[in-house]
Amino acid sequence: MKLERINILDLTKQELTDLVISLGMKKFYGKEIFIWLHKKIVRNFDDMTNISLKDRELLKEKTYIPFFNLLKHQTSKIDKTEKFLFELEDGGTIETVLLRHRDSNNKELRNTLCVSSQVGCPVKCSFCATGQDGYMRNLTVSEIINQVYTVERRLVKKGEEINNIVFMGMGEPLLNLSNLTKALSILSDENGINISKRKITISTSGVVSGIEKILLEKLPIELAISLHSAINEKRDKIIPINKNFPLEDLAAVLIEYQKQTKRRLTFEYILIDNFNISENDANALADFVHQFDHVVNLIPYNEVPNVEHKRPSEKKIEKFFNYLKNNRRVNATLRKEKGSDIDGACGQLRQKTKKGDN
Ligand code: SAH
Ligand code: SF4
Repeated sequence: MKLERINILDLTKQELTDLVISLGMKKFYGKEIFIWLHKKIVRNFDDMTNISLKDRELLKEKTYIPFFNLLKHQTSKIDKTEKFLFELEDGGTIETVLLRHRDSNNKELRNTLCVSSQVGCPVKCSFCATGQDGYMRNLTVSEIINQVYTVERRLVKKGEEINNIVFMGMGEPLLNLSNLTKALSILSDENGINISKRKITISTSGVVSGIEKILLEKLPIELAISLHSAINEKRDKIIPINKNFPLEDLAAVLIEYQKQTKRRLTFEYILIDNFNISENDANALADFVHQFDHVVNLIPYNEVPNVEHKRPSEKKIEKFFNYLKNNRRVNATLRKEKGSDIDGACGQLRQKTKKGDN
């Protein structure tokens, strides 16, 4: 039965080598099989032509290569953003978004994949569609990397590839850190798809304990912090974990992070009408981010059904942006949302389509 076999995509290179040895195969098969699975991203053991027939049969008997069912695929008419709804082995569903943009220097097409880390999200931010849907579970290692592989296979056919990965899909990545770390080591392995960790961004609502672990393990990833307010009483209202990890604690760990890594920090700040866009809010934000080498991405709120928050008018958005830049010298950008016509923009991902109702 399938469930009794080992999910071979869950294994790191070392674990795969250990397995190969325990099955009585040649040790170097560990690396060879890793290359087939993670560089050539094959879906069948029979494609592994330099592995003996006998050993391929043994692998089939003891292990399996999981893959997703694609339940739904949408492409934005506005900007070619693609949204994928995948079905997991237990029937759960997750969404992954492919963002396409031109490089500002050489105008080359770049592909950024926005990956999910959990089914639903336990943080339950008041403004976020994923947070409204309830939390199911962490994604496994193979479920994280299969989002990348499924889309990569489609791109390779067109002579393209994934250039960047951002953990900005469903879920809070730093609450699934052990699977995330393993997935990162596989994705950035020189015998795998080999995406540099520096091209991988992890976005967090501010899980201080998780950032501490990233520091301890010296993970060379890019970090983005979903700030949305630099005033504790307000942040408490929209991001419940701010009560556990208030702004002072967040600032302290980020100061340490920057001291150790010398890496620029990205802060995301969604603009919510009548909530976080006053001059007072702008000053608090400026004071907070000036503690760091920073960039602030301002994101006009994407309205979510049954959620009271509203997107401000263009005029209010410009006013906030200009005040930050001109009066407070904040390194701010105003992010244009992609894929809004397919609900593929930030924070709009949710398990809208349950199995069988698409
Ligand atoms: N859990 C992580 C990563 C996933 S959310 C985090 O919160 O950072 C990715 C980004 O989308 C976060 O910055 C989040 O705050 C933002 N977001 C959530 N809902 C949104 C919405 N409706 N409009 C705009 N951005 C939203
Ligand atoms: Fe979770 Fe991020 Fe959504 Fe908050 S914004 S509920 S942390 S996915």
